[in-house]
Parts: sequence; structure tokens; C-alpha cells
Amino acid sequence: MKKKLLALGLVAVLALSAFAGCSRGGESSSDSGDSKDKGGEQLIGSAIYKFDDTFMTGVRTAMTDQAKSEGVKLELVDSQNKQPTQNEQVDTFITKGVGALAINAVDRTAAGPIIEKAKAKELPIVFLNREPEAADMDSYDKVWYVGAKAEQSGEMSGQIISDYFKAHPEADKNGDGVIQYVMLQGEPGHQDATLRTEYSIKQIEADGFKTEQLAADTAMWDKAKATDLMKSFITGQGLDKIEAVLANNDDMALGAIEALKSEGYNTGDAAKYIPVVGVDATAPALEAMKDGSLLGTVLNDADGQGKATINVAVAAMNDKDITEENVGYPVTDGKYIWIDYVKVTIDNYEDYLK
Ligand code: BGC
Repeated sequence: MKKKLLALGLVAVLALSAFAGCSRGGESSSDSGDSKDKGGEQLIGSAIYKFDDTFMTGVRTAMTDQAKSEGVKLELVDSQNKQPTQNEQVDTFITKGVGALAINAVDRTAAGPIIEKAKAKELPIVFLNREPEAADMDSYDKVWYVGAKAEQSGEMSGQIISDYFKAHPEADKNGDGVIQYVMLQGEPGHQDATLRTEYSIKQIEADGFKTEQLAADTAMWDKAKATDLMKSFITGQGLDKIEAVLANNDDMALGAIEALKSEGYNTGDAAKYIPVVGVDATAPALEAMKDGSLLGTVLNDADGQGKATINVAVAAMNDKDITEENVGYPVTDGKYIWIDYVKVTIDNYEDYLK
């Protein structure tokens, strides 16, 4: 009898441990041991708004590297700029049994339904680069956002323009004491487009300059579209009138420079130069700073954002608290990981050239 009971007990213990062994990483679990104890390779499913985006390509590379060094599997998919496609990709990830989701939303206002899907399975979800609305962020306790404060990048790009006009009073070509500028904007509705546009100009004015917007429109973060847009600004305004070009990202700044170059501007002739500023500090932008066609940019830290995204996902999969100690970056309000921008000028751009 005793033997029988013992055997039964053993079977129960084995059955329990087999069950625990099957539980996939990331499912809610009462133990707080690390991932290795849970068995199986941990998988993060990540959908990126579109692969064909210079900045997000840098973030993807950083995510891949960090996943490797953390010993987790990362599956990255291209949402091809379509929210319905991304929603389906999220469903597929959930069916597959991922331990965490890392989502770069196509439409940041459409994060709600994605959060609902994650919540139903108690899956941790990290958004990056495209910030969900506060109400959506508050709707679930396992949602985080990794990004950068767009206001900061706006202010820094504004400072670059102010500093240029302080050092070069002749840049006020018509001498009217007002900086006449054109603005190339990112995708409408993207927090970075709205806030960079607003805060760059606020900063220039806080630095004591008057400003006049000659023209502004979206070029959707895209270089080729920015060249066309800048050409239409040049035709509409006349090159003589434009005193500064502000672009919400580097691809568009470089697109605008193409248009200027085709008019013989920004190719080395000091009499034919219009200051252009971007954001991101991509490799081609740093090259353009080197050749003098781009005045300055702001580092949007793709490496830091990619790394932080993976660290948060890994910590959350392992039921760890999302704290600076566990993810390596300060955490605001328990949910937000803000990665600082850095102003990049002629004085420090070489530090970022890879
Ligand atoms: C970057 C842009 C990029 C966009 C994608 C922004 O933060 O500055 O270059 O196209 O994110 O969402």
C-alpha cells in the first residue's frame, strides 16, 4: 500500500513538472526564476510598420543584435505600411506562441485592438517609435513604450538653425530680421512629425529670432518625395527667398538637398548655400555633414531604442519588473522608456560616423 502511494505521488510530481516544462516562456507564471528554467527557446514576435524606412532599418539591426546577445529568438515581419496586415501578423504571432510582442504600429492610434489581443493571452507587449495614445497605454499593465521625446529633437534642430544665424547674420538674405523657412514634415499623425515641427520653431523664436513659414507640407519621411516637394517649394517661393530648410528627418533633409544641388546650391559655393537641418543622424546624413551640404542633425538613437525594446521584452517574458536595474534604461511611470536625442553639429558628427 505504502509503495503504491509512493508510486502515485511520483507520477503526480512527474506530471506536474512535465506540465511546467511545457509552459511556454512568457505565459504568466508564479515563479520568478529566469527564462532558462522555463525550458524551450523564448521567442519575441516583432512587426515593423515597414522595412523600407532608413531609421527603422537601424532599429531592426539593433534589435537583432541584442536578441542574439540575450539568447532569445526574434522574428521580425514587415507590415508594409498596412495596419490590417499588421493585425494579422499579430494574430499569427499569438497562434505561434510567442512570449512577447514588440510592435512598431503602422497607425499609432490603432494600438488599442492590438493591446486587446495581447491582454487576452496575458502577453507582454512593447511598442516602439510610434507612441500609442495614453488611454491605450493605460488599458493594460503589461504594455510599455520605447521611444524618444520628439520635443527634444525639435528643440535641438531649432538650436542648430539659431546658432547658424547668430554666427552668420548674412544668412538673413533680405535683411528683414526674420528667418524665412520651409518645413518638410513626416507622416501626418506621427508624434515626431507634429512635435518636431512645432518645437523647432518655438526654439528658434525662444533664441530671439522672428520666423516666417514660407511653405510646409508632408513628404512622408521619404527622400524622393522630399526632392519633389522641395522642387515645388523652390518653384513656388523662389530660391532667393528661402533662408532655411527644416526637415523632420534626415531622409527628407537629404531629398531637399538633392533639389538644392540641382539648382547649384549646397555644393561648396558659399554664395549659394541654404542651411538644412534634419533628424536621425543616419549614415548618409553624417556623410552629407562631412561634405558640407547638410548643416546638422539630431541623433535619434536607433541602437539604444532597439536594445531597450529587446531588454524590456526579455525582462517581461521572465516576469521581471520593468525597472532600470532590469532593463538598463530609466523607466518613467512604469511604462515609458525614453532614449535621449543628441544634437549633432560639425563639432561632434565624427563621433557618430561608423
Ligand atoms: C524617424 C523617421 C522614421 C520614423 C518612422 C522617426 O522617429 O525620425 O526617420 O521614418 O520615425 O516611424
